[in-house]
Amino acid sequence: MNPFELHPDRLSTTDETGKRIFLFPADVRGFFRSWRTRVQFVLILFFLGLPWVRVDGEQAVLLDITNRKFEFFGLSLRAHNAPLLLFVLAVAGFGLFFATAIWGRVWCGWACPQTVFIDGVFRRIERWIEGSALERRQLASAPWSARKILKRSLKWSAFLSASLVITHSFLAYFVGTENLARMIKSSPVENWGSFLFMAVSTSIILFDFAWFREQFCTIVCPYGRFQSVLMDSRSKIVAYNLSRGEPRATPQAKAISKTHGTKLGDCVNCYRCVQVCPTGIDIRRGVQMECIACTACIDACDEVMAKLKKPTGLIRYDSLAGLQGKTKTRFRLRPVVYLSVVAISALALILSLAWMKPVDVAVLRAKESPYTLQTTEAGEVFVLNHFKIELSNQSGALHQIIFELHPEESSLGVSLVTALKPFPLKDGDLTRADVFARFPKNVLSNGQRKVRLKVQDQNTQTGQIILIEKEMTLVGPFT
Ligand code: SF4
Ligand code: SF4
Repeated sequence: MNPFELHPDRLSTTDETGKRIFLFPADVRGFFRSWRTRVQFVLILFFLGLPWVRVDGEQAVLLDITNRKFEFFGLSLRAHNAPLLLFVLAVAGFGLFFATAIWGRVWCGWACPQTVFIDGVFRRIERWIEGSALERRQLASAPWSARKILKRSLKWSAFLSASLVITHSFLAYFVGTENLARMIKSSPVENWGSFLFMAVSTSIILFDFAWFREQFCTIVCPYGRFQSVLMDSRSKIVAYNLSRGEPRATPQAKAISKTHGTKLGDCVNCYRCVQVCPTGIDIRRGVQMECIACTACIDACDEVMAKLKKPTGLIRYDSLAGLQGKTKTRFRLRPVVYLSVVAISALALILSLAWMKPVDVAVLRAKESPYTLQTTEAGEVFVLNHFKIELSNQSGALHQIIFELHPEESSLGVSLVTALKPFPLKDGDLTRADVFARFPKNVLSNGQRKVRLKVQDQNTQTGQIILIEKEMTLVGPFT
């Protein structure tokens, strides 16, 4: 039996005892392989290079969790902007659902970090040091020798170095490149938290990318599990054209064909598609959860077909409907729904960002009684209203806040009292200021009056500037 013929009832990566079978996928050349190499190169470069890009002097993407400060290409967000994350997640999540409904597991095969780093970095290192798939397989089964120890030590040292580079780059997104450089130069004792994060992440990456590999996709990743509910018969998948390929040229089929003169399919049963598969499956068995749509089997089979002077595309990117010859495009509700959610969420995100103010103010009434009365020694009765003014600052500067009323209202005898004048509002602050409005009863009409609050910054060379104006309602007894 061909060693690549898979057992019908168990995973391709387990033997009869349930022990893992380590895979040695063969190298492949072809149209998709060359495009995947280019895409992987760009993605890796993007991941490693992005923390070093600066926009207006700030790191282009910085997720400074400690200081609750987040930078995105010149846009500064703070922890209180967290609700925006909901829109970002909706765009990313439903965008992925849309891509899956149209192009199947394109994310897995082309952009998932698991695939990109294993295929673009770790397998490449392995190939440089240990040779082709056959040489790697032979080395793995060979007894320990000086050559094997040397090759394995070299390989694992290179794996460790690659893991360290990935982890440090990842950490740079959270602590910033300057801090990262400082931490690298200083003792781990000075940065225990970051050091532990780096050590644990490096171990996980080394374990996953160097050893666990396809097991993550087939056992751990939830996306692989629920992809089937996102796809329908019109979604593109990597598929084997059963009607063209079968009956494949097994020894039995060849014998029957010889005796009865029946025609064989185009599949010559060379197992090349199985040999190149990074998850070790046989795509000729139909759509499988383990298939990460890496397209290696397409290139492998096209190479075989080209050698046999037969048309390529026995394995190809197509939908189940396409394979059955149903080429007519029908309206599909599923991708339309996914795309609509993406468009609505993206619009909501853009509008929220456009409406975001450098300093935002919300006027809230304090929880205790709506007003209190104060009688002066001269017998005058004043009304006191207690407000909580919620302030958020994401302007990138310190503001010295002064609360004032519109001159018209001040002239009526309404005054504002604050504990701190000016009230300091640091960059990134989300805080509340207690403000008391004091006014004579006769200011009110039917127990209330609307006044205009000016929130000003006095910390400017040009004098006070009005940051924002808000309306607030004074309440008191009916007169
Ligand atoms: S079946 Fe083909 S596309 Fe799917 S994982 Fe294997 S080689 Fe990649
Ligand atoms: S590579 Fe093509 S011809 Fe060879 S076994 Fe796979 S499907 Fe058949």
